Amino acid sequence: MTSEGLPDLRREPHPNPTPADERERVLADPGFGTHFTDHMFTMTWTEGRGWHDARLGPYGPITLSPAAAVLHYAQEIFEGMKAYRYPDGGIGLFRPEANARRLNISADRMAMPHLPEQWFIESIRELLSVDGDWVPAQEEASLYVRPYVFAAEQFLGVRPAKEYRYMVIASPAAAYFKGGPKPLTLWVSEDYNRAGPGGTGAAKAGGNYAASLLPQAEAIDHGCDQVVFLDAVEYKYVDELGGMNLFFVYENEQVLYTPQLGTILPGITRDAIFTLAAESGWEVRETKYSIDRWRNDAESGALTEAFACGTAAVITPVGTVKGRGGEFQIAGGEAGKFTMQLRQTILDIQHGRAADTHGWTMRVA
Ligand SMILES: *Cc1c(COP(=O)(O)O)cnc(C)c1O
Repeated sequence: MTSEGLPDLRREPHPNPTPADERERVLADPGFGTHFTDHMFTMTWTEGRGWHDARLGPYGPITLSPAAAVLHYAQEIFEGMKAYRYPDGGIGLFRPEANARRLNISADRMAMPHLPEQWFIESIRELLSVDGDWVPAQEEASLYVRPYVFAAEQFLGVRPAKEYRYMVIASPAAAYFKGGPKPLTLWVSEDYNRAGPGGTGAAKAGGNYAASLLPQAEAIDHGCDQVVFLDAVEYKYVDELGGMNLFFVYENEQVLYTPQLGTILPGITRDAIFTLAAESGWEVRETKYSIDRWRNDAESGALTEAFACGTAAVITPVGTVKGRGGEFQIAGGEAGKFTMQLRQTILDIQHGRAADTHGWTMRVA
């Protein structure tokens, strides 16, 4: 490889990878996040030396100092993407450069070093070159790819670490919903926020998820699927779910509303929806959107659909919203036509079933 390739790359194939029949058994019903492929990618960054020691090796436990900074101060960022099996048997990614760019935006906020974007892409290509057989072929199934960076320095002082580990692991994922998406019931958290102005809400950081677990548990206690967070200043405007962005559909005006960037995570699915909606003649308005407006417009029927979006569940209709003060439904709690069409359009591009007219897909095999 040239000097632009992954630094000091070593490839150490697994001595006894999963037998094909066992892998096929897992891929027939992979669930989510419990099975992992045979290999993983690791690379180290140290102050003064930068990134080095790229290694593609067997998936397995890692050694880490008990004093590693990530275990104490949560200096960690991650990405989430999927590898798709194309109809011709090839494998593709959806907008991986956008994930590479976002990882570095997250790195800036968490005072971590940048990872050159081509190395991000190369590391995923390396992993898929040995574990490509783990990409499932069933409709809507995929291989979930998880790149992440964490502070590995052994030091209990509070400051940005001087050593980091970058890793990529992969886990086969079933279709998120068996038999099509079921409209979500959301719980409006009135006691907790996900992120405030100047906080870390726009970074894809593990700590944001830690903070969302208690309100998410509260949502489950109230018989809901997911928590929806409001802004941290006025408790009035809708932010997002714990891990998905939100859109509001006004069919009569041909307008989509979505919360503006700032405290929310800038989703790549969200961004793709801007383009696809514009192409079919819709206007997208990024704006503050209040919970009162959501309720009023759902009740009047001006709001015709609402949906959540993200890599894991793609696009999912929102049917019911519950809070302390009561509940309301959107379009009788049913999945809407616009939502389901948009969902199919994105899925077809991601899985290589529709022509990619946007340069969004990257074939890796
Ligand atoms: C990852 C993530 C999303 C969705 O982003 P995509 O790029 O569309 O997968 C939305 N909200 C949060 C908090 C996230 O971490």
